[in-house]
Amino acid sequence: MNLHEYQGKEILSSFGVRIQRGIVADNHKKAVDAAKQLTTETGTSWYVVKAQIHAGGRGKGGGVKLAKSLQEVEKISNDIIGMMLKTPQTSAEGKKVNQVLIAEDVYYPGDSEPEEYYMSVLLNRSTGRNMIMYSTEGGMDIETVAEETPHLIFHEEIDPALGLLPFQARKIAFNLGLSGGALKEMVKFVTALYTAYVKSDSSLFEINPVLKTSDSKILAVDAKVTLDDSALYRHKDYMELRDLREENAIEVEANAAGLNYVDLDGNVGCMVNGAGLAMSTMDLIKQSGGEPANFLDVGGTADAERVEKGFRIILRDPAVKAILVNIFGGIVRCDRVAQGIVDAYKNMGDDIKVPIIVRLQGTNAIEAKKLIEDSGLPVHSVVEFQEAADKVQEVLA
Ligand code: GDP
Ligand code: MN
Repeated sequence: MNLHEYQGKEILSSFGVRIQRGIVADNHKKAVDAAKQLTTETGTSWYVVKAQIHAGGRGKGGGVKLAKSLQEVEKISNDIIGMMLKTPQTSAEGKKVNQVLIAEDVYYPGDSEPEEYYMSVLLNRSTGRNMIMYSTEGGMDIETVAEETPHLIFHEEIDPALGLLPFQARKIAFNLGLSGGALKEMVKFVTALYTAYVKSDSSLFEINPVLKTSDSKILAVDAKVTLDDSALYRHKDYMELRDLREENAIEVEANAAGLNYVDLDGNVGCMVNGAGLAMSTMDLIKQSGGEPANFLDVGGTADAERVEKGFRIILRDPAVKAILVNIFGGIVRCDRVAQGIVDAYKNMGDDIKVPIIVRLQGTNAIEAKKLIEDSGLPVHSVVEFQEAADKVQEVLA
């Protein structure tokens, strides 16, 4: 589950990580109130207005702006809230901004060279260990740094039994070129950051930039936090941080129906049971000259209701030109799935305008094929994998 910057920062702060402070607002009047409150709390008289969307690169797209007065806060917030913000990480039409974070300006005027670093915490899947990735090249996107100056990116792996050791935190601060008070501050920052990552059950922290102010404070100016969905049951208070407006509408609907659905860019919808079969079905579609439009695992109970829901969800995607149902009847018998498909089809009638190819294999596969053929519905029924591939090719042609 992805979070907004302001939510990520709240989590960091709750574990003692120093952050650029801010208050979120969903209209320009509240933005001004937020700015006033921030001045009371921090003494700041300049602010940054930051669009809150689930995508990075907001600065480049005009979603992060400095405001030097309350009037500017109001004007800029009014401009940003409601806009379609396009960044290198959004689609071409951009993402609608519903909220802005009014943050204290932490780049002090007169600060000749504020230092910006990059820091992330994530799982290294090849070693099965968490690691801290960091760089002196903060503020720009890390992919560019990786391409142009890979030697400026460092990694520190953490032993799960020992946790982050003090010498590792010092090494990180040292590699970032720090000394004296700033080094001590960075050690504190990294230590708190790693604790926050582990205790919040996150799967990604990306802090870009981490800032060193001219008075040697180290703080998180940005925060991209991804929580591990499978661990959310341990953090009831984090569950309400989900912002469904930021998520793919079809995926949200599918998940609510208990279907495992991922939206893709292709033209052949697929409905499958089991993730492994789903992967090979997607390969099959590609080999037939199509592109999978989605990944949909209906799970063990492929009854009429679930099949209908599956069809409806697949058909919400206008790019779908054909649907391939590929279900292995192990626990669930093929004839029951076939009946489910026939019932769903009858229920949906004219809503289905694309050819459907059904491959049912396993217990009672032959009965299932007969059941579909006898129904008189325009559903292509096949038993073998290759037949399914040929059929997909045929209907796309
Ligand atoms: P992103 O573009 O989505 O990664 O958003 P960030 O939160 O990283 O902000 C983008 C850029 O805005 C940062 O790299 C900073 O250069 C700038 N910025 C952020 N906070 C401040 C601030 O307090 N003062 C000033 N002057 N610039 C800031
Ligand atoms: Mn950033």
